[in-house]
Amino acid sequence: MSDNLYDLLASRFPADRTRHAFRPPGAPAVSYGEFEGLTARAAAALRARSVQPGDRVALQVEKSIEAVVIYLATLRVGAVFLPLNAAYTAAEVAYFLEDAEPAVFVQDAQAFLREAADLPPDLQVEPRAADDLAAIIYTSGTTGRSKGAMLTHGALAANALALHEAWGFSPDDVLLHALPIFHVHGLFVALHCAFLSGCPMVWLNRFDEAAVLAGLSGSTVMMGVPTFYTRLLAQPGLTREATAHMRLFVSGSAPLLESAFEAFEGRTGHRILERYGMSEAVIITTNPLAGERKPGSVGFPLPGVDLRIGGGEETGVIEIRGPSVFSGYWRMPEKTAEEFTADGFFITGDVGRLDPDGRLWISGRAKDLIISGGYNVYPKEVEVLLDEEPGVRASAVIGVPHPDFGEGVVAVVEGQGDEAAMIAALRSRLAGYKTPKRVVFVDALPRNAMGKIQKALLRQTYGDLFR
Ligand code: AMP
Repeated sequence: MSDNLYDLLASRFPADRTRHAFRPPGAPAVSYGEFEGLTARAAAALRARSVQPGDRVALQVEKSIEAVVIYLATLRVGAVFLPLNAAYTAAEVAYFLEDAEPAVFVQDAQAFLREAADLPPDLQVEPRAADDLAAIIYTSGTTGRSKGAMLTHGALAANALALHEAWGFSPDDVLLHALPIFHVHGLFVALHCAFLSGCPMVWLNRFDEAAVLAGLSGSTVMMGVPTFYTRLLAQPGLTREATAHMRLFVSGSAPLLESAFEAFEGRTGHRILERYGMSEAVIITTNPLAGERKPGSVGFPLPGVDLRIGGGEETGVIEIRGPSVFSGYWRMPEKTAEEFTADGFFITGDVGRLDPDGRLWISGRAKDLIISGGYNVYPKEVEVLLDEEPGVRASAVIGVPHPDFGEGVVAVVEGQGDEAAMIAALRSRLAGYKTPKRVVFVDALPRNAMGKIQKALLRQTYGDLFR
């Protein structure tokens, strides 16, 4: 067995290959045996197209089981998987294709597998070394060129094994999978935990509140972005009974509001386990499975991860080193060099602090830091207070150009309220320079598919507020 990630995953598939891998509600289940066979045929189809080890295989399709088959087939032939968000426009896709130069670009997974169905399965798994590339994940950067984070077989395997252990996965689990699979969360974190346990997944091609609630009764673990949890909270069907079968709810990809954590516990008795990760390192820290899960903290570094705060202050940019950290940005050696320290730590761009117990608390992205009148304002500090105000569902605090202060603090609030009253309420709890000068109420904050609030877009929209 080489270090090909496929070999590791397949070595954990259940000995009884009739066990289910995928359970899509309303459609026939797919067993591990069937799934394995499909990946071998899809591998044959890739080799028939002369895909060589190290070649890129790009995929832009809606979420489906077939897409997962093509992911594993890509690993089998030693090629590099390149998933693209189905929402990308033709112009955006053109950039990725030009940059990554894939040997194959799949736009219809079903058609690809129909073609593969006539081929004899190709059982030879290409030997790979731990430092060979397995995937390129383009970052969802909203400014500048999107960068392709290069992840190796070794990095993905190390992270998968660490999570499988940390979250106590076993063959008795059933994972509810409702996440997109063009992103590390649904693609690596969720799928690899399930495959390493050889357990079934309740498979939803998209998040739908009713389908998730129905799926929980036959599942034991769910992974979600915070918006999944806030949407579930809006459902009267979210109760202790509905979640009685569950052992674990995991959240990540964006900050989970403490109010959502508490409301979820109140309704279900479950304390959501929050973890922190990114395309460049998959998962970095996690709250404990057995110990206390603290709302607002993303927990402790995974075993093997060195994590420190740069800059010499208590709060600063999080720097990491460890087995799952990416090996650089595709074809951007200078950009890569800029984002690593001389002693090999990746500068994440997230700002945070470690408490005396070693737990990490994130206060936002470095580029979202506001400097108003020469003072640093960490948006999170203001957002936490805003979120406690009546009528506020969520908030985003940004800095926009201000004639006197350089940047003026602006709060964009999802919900309803009175601007002057809200400013007065905050002023009594915050220093003047941190208090928003304006509060804007909106029906919905702009979020991407992973539930991340698009602050760059908000800075554009409200850029003229003080001019
Ligand atoms: P992506 O590469 O698209 O997965 O985005 C990674 C970024 O998401 C990180 O750098 C963080 O800014 C953010 N993120 C992920 N998980 C969390 C979390 N639990 N709390 C706060 N921010 C998070």
